[in-house]
Amino acid sequence: MKNRWADKDAAAIIESCRKAGVNEDVALRVYTSRLIGVEPELVIHGGGNTSVKTQMKDFLGVEQSVICVKGSGWDLATIEAPGLPALLLHPLHAVRQRETLSDEDMVRFQRLNLLDPSSPNPSVETLLHAFLPHKFVDHTHATAILALSDQKNGLEICRKAFGARVAIVPYVMAGFQLAKKTAAAFEADPDVVGILLEKHGLFTFGDTAKQSYDRMIELVTLAETAIEAAPKWTPKPIATKNAATPADVIPVIRGACAEMREDGAHQRLIADFRTSEQILGFVNGETLGDYGARGVVTPDHIIRTKNHYLITDFPAAGAIDEFQKSVKRAIDTYRADYDRYFKDNNARLGGTKTKLDSAPRVALIPGVGLIGMGVSAKEAMIAADLAEITIDTVIKAERVGAFDPLPPADLFDMEYWSLEQAKLGQAKPKPLAGQVAVVTGGGGTIGAATAALFAANGAEVALLDRDADAASRAAAEIGKTAFAVQCDLTDEVSVKSAFDAVARRFGGVDILVSNAGAAWESMIADMDDALLRKSFEINFFAHQRAAQAAVAIMKRQGTGGALLFNVSKQAVNPGENFGAYGLPKATTLFLVRQYALECGKDGIRANAVNADRIRSGLLTDEMIAKRSKARGVSETAYTRSNLLQREVTAEDVAQAFLHHALALKTTGDVTTVDGGNVAAMMR
Ligand SMILES: [Zn+2]
Repeated sequence: MKNRWADKDAAAIIESCRKAGVNEDVALRVYTSRLIGVEPELVIHGGGNTSVKTQMKDFLGVEQSVICVKGSGWDLATIEAPGLPALLLHPLHAVRQRETLSDEDMVRFQRLNLLDPSSPNPSVETLLHAFLPHKFVDHTHATAILALSDQKNGLEICRKAFGARVAIVPYVMAGFQLAKKTAAAFEADPDVVGILLEKHGLFTFGDTAKQSYDRMIELVTLAETAIEAAPKWTPKPIATKNAATPADVIPVIRGACAEMREDGAHQRLIADFRTSEQILGFVNGETLGDYGARGVVTPDHIIRTKNHYLITDFPAAGAIDEFQKSVKRAIDTYRADYDRYFKDNNARLGGTKTKLDSAPRVALIPGVGLIGMGVSAKEAMIAADLAEITIDTVIKAERVGAFDPLPPADLFDMEYWSLEQAKLGQAKPKPLAGQVAVVTGGGGTIGAATAALFAANGAEVALLDRDADAASRAAAEIGKTAFAVQCDLTDEVSVKSAFDAVARRFGGVDILVSNAGAAWESMIADMDDALLRKSFEINFFAHQRAAQAAVAIMKRQGTGGALLFNVSKQAVNPGENFGAYGLPKATTLFLVRQYALECGKDGIRANAVNADRIRSGLLTDEMIAKRSKARGVSETAYTRSNLLQREVTAEDVAQAFLHHALALKTTGDVTTVDGGNVAAMMR
């Protein structure tokens, strides 16, 4: 493994920290923590932790011996000094005399000794860091270390690889007892430069940041060398010719994984798709059901991925119906196994635990790849990253011997740890969490406002627009996971590829906001056919094409969905010169009702919003100026010429769409958002 230490970089961090009033010890701690954090073969997604023992002034200005240790919520790759909260060291040493200390008391005791009570919770491995005498301590879950340790004879293999340089502590869950055992292991053998925790990870330590980091890299390299010396392991592949596309396959799995909530709504998960030569080599193996089903490589993963991944059959192109049936069977078995695992282990612990959902978080799909799943795109991404690291680790472990992870009981204790259980139910999920919304015309005023509101309510949003830049700008304003897709809704191929892209990105589609439109003015009696046809293309056929594409995915998911159409006041209340706009919009209103009629049995709802006089690409500020002048009224009077005498905005329209996305028992409805206009009232 590459040693990334550079004197120049270390000096630069010391200098910038000095300016911020951070001492050199902490500066170097920040530096090597980041060096560890950027290496996915050492730690990923908040895994691992580091510490430094130093001197700091307390609230009264008295110099104190402290330990600065990684705080929860921080990632080593991007850590800064506030991510290393300082705790008084002497009380931490004193607590070692106790026989036992519950996890809750340990957390309280750690908080009690924080120099700054507003700091994040220090790592649950803080006492382990504190009990070791070294100034710098580093801890990782390195892939190469796990590959050697996750074996039946892992202790023997590790002893052979590291010799006298490392002490080994047999598996104990993180907490007070592990801290005591690790400190005792060091004291029994003070010449070691690292301590390996069986099937968990590695600690190294030293007098300087560089020494501790160097030792981490050195020991991981030793493990890598041992793996390299073993013959390559490639599982015998099954035949995977003519696999179905990811866009066809993923919605099937995602839909089958959704759980029905008590209120009758589906709790869906977002999916993050991955494929690569290494992933395919792994998932295509004939004996995937064996090596791919043994469990997680380190207990740290279990909260994100559950112990077992779902393994599907091979999905052949043109046989999606059969695949759907086989996935249903696989999920039923998965849930039953998970429920049994919970029941057995909960009974062992006196029935005190609150059950988590039974849905898998990773699915391995022969011939296609893998998906990570979670309630948000971010959670799904983390699950997928951990699955990729797991595949890498298992391949290495199989080279060395046979991958043998911790038994389920140990992993249950981690998954149902009291500190994790205490977090349950604390954060109320957002109303659209786990749902994917596609918004057409997403780069326009109403589309962007709707996508932003849906994202704020927990949905993952895809913004489709003919103007790729406009879609990207709107997506960038919403946030990291908002997905911009260039799409010409008048072109069938473009629509298909846009919806495929959304299925690959988020796993499917649950809500369509069919919003894109365009208006042309002309008297109906003189209207050119070509103009009318052009208007029908975007104001009717585009809605139909988008709805068809969305319904195809929704049916594959089998969890219902919502089709929301931006119709227009014109659909029921014609305006002079606006025939080219009103005619297709009236047809689209009919379309809404046709979808409501035919898709109700699939749980797919279809509803419309009739809006009027919204400042947008269709009614620009210049148009408002021109029209108000023509009518001899002020611009304000023009935009407020409704019963409520208030201007109606794109955000108001977005609220109406949100209402329909959540109104689970409403279909075939039209909501008017125009401030009140008797002539446009539905009748
Ligand atoms: Zn750990």
